[in-house]
Amino acid sequence: MFAEIITIGDELLIGQVIDTNSGFIAKQLNKIGVSVYQITSIQDDKSHIIKALKEAESNADIVILTGGLGPTKDDITKKTIAEYFNDTLVKDTAVLKNIEHLWKHYVGGTLLQVNKDQALVPSKAQVLMNKLGTAPGMWLEKGDKVFVSLPGVPYEMNALMDHHVIPKLKDKYNCPFILHKTLLVYGLGESALADRIESWEDALPEHIKLAYLPSLGKMRLRLSAKGFDEQQVKEEVQNEIDKVLPLIKNEFFGFEDEEGSVEIIIAKHLTKIGKTLAIAESCTGGTVAERFTVNSGASAYFNGGIVTYSTESKINVLGVSKNDIETHSVVSSQVVESMAQNALRLFQSDFALATTGNAGPTKGDSDAEVGTVFIGIATKNGVYSEGFNFGNHRVKVINKAVNKALEMMLK
Ligand code: ATP
Ligand code: MG
Repeated sequence: MFAEIITIGDELLIGQVIDTNSGFIAKQLNKIGVSVYQITSIQDDKSHIIKALKEAESNADIVILTGGLGPTKDDITKKTIAEYFNDTLVKDTAVLKNIEHLWKHYVGGTLLQVNKDQALVPSKAQVLMNKLGTAPGMWLEKGDKVFVSLPGVPYEMNALMDHHVIPKLKDKYNCPFILHKTLLVYGLGESALADRIESWEDALPEHIKLAYLPSLGKMRLRLSAKGFDEQQVKEEVQNEIDKVLPLIKNEFFGFEDEEGSVEIIIAKHLTKIGKTLAIAESCTGGTVAERFTVNSGASAYFNGGIVTYSTESKINVLGVSKNDIETHSVVSSQVVESMAQNALRLFQSDFALATTGNAGPTKGDSDAEVGTVFIGIATKNGVYSEGFNFGNHRVKVINKAVNKALEMMLK
């Protein structure tokens, strides 16, 4: 089964908005055995949409479009689809009700005609009800091909994919079972890891694929297998995991597919043992805290975080001693340990994580080399820190520092 994704929107083609929709859709389709062979981004332009639809129809079994379903004049996807299918737009009363409901609860005031018109759908389309927004999703069939049009707003599109499109595609086609298992590995670079597991990798069966996904300070090792017998696929992959784990026993931290990311593994552990976390950040600017709070359930263990970016704020807000800073530099193990201990006390938590560093490009507030980062962890029993140099690119230094901080927290 092959699919093509067409993302529509002028904003995508001027670089104002990055197309994240197609990545999400491709991932979801991939899980049910549908291969995406082409992703196209086009303008809100009738002739371009028709051209893309024609091309996709000739190549793919499934065509998924996003964007251009809004109420404004520049959103022309729906009209163009109706024209492509020689169809007319008709009012869908259930969609209108949904629009009226959303309007009353979240917008207020008079419902404009342009919004009421969002309840117009091609007569041949099945509506995919969008509970999060006023633009409905649409499912159309032409012969044995499927066309799906979804709103451009990512979270609306995500929900429609998960709740409507994927289940409907599974119903319609006999989809194979696909399993991806991703092992999270810390502390080994790509080549060192490849070297370590070489003999195992060379002996992998043909139909089990291995991918290395390095990202600033951590490594994801993905095993993928596909088949119609779910049990067999699971057993074969498990068998390979059992063989590789002893080779990386000190570097392996968990499975991404099951646990989610590293921060989710930490979060689950803290929640389970009933302990709390506080964070004091400097060079990472709140990113470590954000990695935790972006996931639901953070209130169970996350007491709070503080960004003390300037030297003064480290002294005045966090209570780091001026003497320590003057004696050891603001980027030092003494200061990061003091930041962690003070955050532990201020937030009355069981663990505290702290970062201080110089992400560059210039020396800034400290005399530390660009790329120097100290990370500290305090508990009620003591404090511990490590120093690193993460290179000379600001974004890279920050990302590496965040990943390293999470890694240290895991240990
Ligand atoms: P709605 O009526 O809910 O606004 P829509 O289909 O009209 O839906 P668009 O107006 O095309 O959606 O896009 C809405 C917003 O969604 C855009 O401002 C943009 O930020 C985001 N968006 C659109 N397409 C994409 C995409 N491919 N990837 C990521 N974001 C996107
Ligand atoms: Mg648009």
